[in-house]
Amino acid sequence: MDIRADICVVRFAELSTKGKNKKDFVRQLRKNISEAMKSFDSVTVVGSFDRIYVVLNGADERTVIARLQQIFGISTISLAVKAEQNLDAMCEVAIALMKNEIPSTFKVITRRADKSFPWVTDQINRALGTAILNNTEHRVDVHEPEIKVLVEVRPDEVYITVNTVAGAGGFPVGTQGKGMLLLSGGIDSPVAAHLCNKRGMELECIHFQSPPYTSQAALDKVMDLARKLTAGQREIRMHIVNFTDLQLQINHFIPEDYRITIMRRMMIRVAEELAVKRKCKALITGECIGQVASQTLESIQVISSVATLPILRPLITYDKNEIISLAEKIGTFEISIRPYEDCCTVFTPVNPVTRPALHRALHYEKSFDFAPYVIECVEKSQTVFVKYEKKQAEDALF
Ligand code: ATP
Ligand code: MG
Repeated sequence: MDIRADICVVRFAELSTKGKNKKDFVRQLRKNISEAMKSFDSVTVVGSFDRIYVVLNGADERTVIARLQQIFGISTISLAVKAEQNLDAMCEVAIALMKNEIPSTFKVITRRADKSFPWVTDQINRALGTAILNNTEHRVDVHEPEIKVLVEVRPDEVYITVNTVAGAGGFPVGTQGKGMLLLSGGIDSPVAAHLCNKRGMELECIHFQSPPYTSQAALDKVMDLARKLTAGQREIRMHIVNFTDLQLQINHFIPEDYRITIMRRMMIRVAEELAVKRKCKALITGECIGQVASQTLESIQVISSVATLPILRPLITYDKNEIISLAEKIGTFEISIRPYEDCCTVFTPVNPVTRPALHRALHYEKSFDFAPYVIECVEKSQTVFVKYEKKQAEDALF
């Protein structure tokens, strides 16, 4: 019997979410999956209360699974084969599926959504178990089976699956409000985006560029990073801020060792203005404790004090190698290491202060009227939409 998967059974993560929350969670997840599956012409998505079914209709199962594994809020995904609602047909499918597997131990686990089905779960487990035992090399192990043969009896058909893979976990993007991410061309901030998406936050991004000191190639790099991030969030609103004039003012008026501190405070001011306009509830950065001069606790305090929105720093305690392995996993690392300059690096002083004092930062900021520059940054910012492209679905496989 030639066997081909018909459907992916998608199970939800974090079902501790209750009541109305659960409804929102499921609705958003279903929406996100439906959006993501638009990359596959034939695929359709069907929802029930506690499962989502992705019907393949001939689409490549490996690519579909890989794409589903990028969507947050999914705990497990199983490729299932449809069988008719009778024991003989079910046994035949189970045997065929198990013949494709390397001989090992198994257990049959049945779930009966259709209570009118004439056999109870125990009878089904036993019938399929015996059929597999008699027709294949597999052995039963009810305690620690290597293969779980999952049987779902639905109202019109039965799904049988032997392969279950882990989903990405977390919450569906869109269930936990919106944040404004400061996206640089570096390794860290794209990873911070990924982690926020994982907890269900939707993101808009803001990027500061300083032409002509920073190049078009540097901006292209950031756009390529944003494009990668659309695997977790199908569309990203990017705000591109021209930071040159403000940065030149900082360079002119601020003593060298405080330039980075003041520059960061200005970035936060601009980002917060845009964040509030766009109804974002938090700012997000890729900062990590001790990584560079501006990321000491003292710096973080002096920089954070200009913000009224909370600044989330999902990577704060990560080691660089942990960040890099996540960056490799989400495919941003190769882009991040392209050697283009960033507005920060162009103006980086030789000896930035590592323990800035708030009163000194405030004092230096009085040396020029920065408010009109901040306003201009906000008002002249450009908005670009970065959208997931159909051809990216293939990337999910690698
Ligand atoms: P990354 O790898 O994210 O660039 P980094 O280790 O290079 O981090 P910094 O350059 O000090 O660290 O930047 C710290 C954070 O400030 C970044 O993670 C990012 O959130 C924000 N940031 C820095 N430069 C920019 C920029 N040009 N545009 C937007 N945000 C920026
Ligand atoms: Mg950087």
